[in-house]
Amino acid sequence: MAKPLLAGNWKMHGTAKSAAELASQLAGYAGEKPEIMVFPSFVSIPAVVNALSEHKDIAIGAQNVSHYSEGAYTGEISGKMLTGIGCSHVLVGHSERRTNNAEGNTLVAEKFAAAQQSGLIPILCVGETLQQRQDSLQLQVIKAQITAVIEKVGLQNVCNAIIAYEPVWAVGTGETATPEQAQQVHGFIRAELGEHGKDTQLLYGGSINADNAASLFSQPDIDGGLVGGASLEAEHFMNIAQQLIERK
Ligand code: PEP
Repeated sequence: MAKPLLAGNWKMHGTAKSAAELASQLAGYAGEKPEIMVFPSFVSIPAVVNALSEHKDIAIGAQNVSHYSEGAYTGEISGKMLTGIGCSHVLVGHSERRTNNAEGNTLVAEKFAAAQQSGLIPILCVGETLQQRQDSLQLQVIKAQITAVIEKVGLQNVCNAIIAYEPVWAVGTGETATPEQAQQVHGFIRAELGEHGKDTQLLYGGSINADNAASLFSQPDIDGGLVGGASLEAEHFMNIAQQLIERK
């Protein structure tokens, strides 16, 4: 079974100061923790790196990366810039970027490749819309999203990354996939990855909270969570982390 992992996506919330405070609160939790990583906004990353300088057990990632490595791309941030300030991970293909920034499968695959080339570990986010689920297309959609990346970087490189199944209809909505719905997709992704994907961390994301975490984490192919709203409060996030450690 892959190692348990809990990731917090802080989206466009707070300031550098509040992000550093939140990071320090997380670091202050003693006891057994799963692997933990946080994704502050770009401008808060240096403050979070500073706050966690003595706590290397919490990894830091960015919420986006350019598919270009360098050049005249105003407003873009490269993978090399991110590793240079202390990031080890990056979200790629988050549904909010697919929807709000028209990031399609080809661009997501290019970002994934650029991230790996610069030494970042991508968390590839995949998931179907409500309409696609109502049309029973979820597995087809997810297969296409993952296949685009496999075609770009190869299966082994996808297996070396982290995949987050985040149904679009569950992200930030308060709606959660049932454990059975989530397991169906996670089992499908695991099978698609084959032999090399046995240890690939597969996260569920979409309105995880302290009340629904345990049942999701009890599923055999759910190795942890990508948490948005509930990651903005240290106690809530660490409660979820505890449930991941104690999962049945
Ligand atoms: C996310 O941002 O990846 C996410 C899952 O958000 P939320 O937990 O708020 O649904």
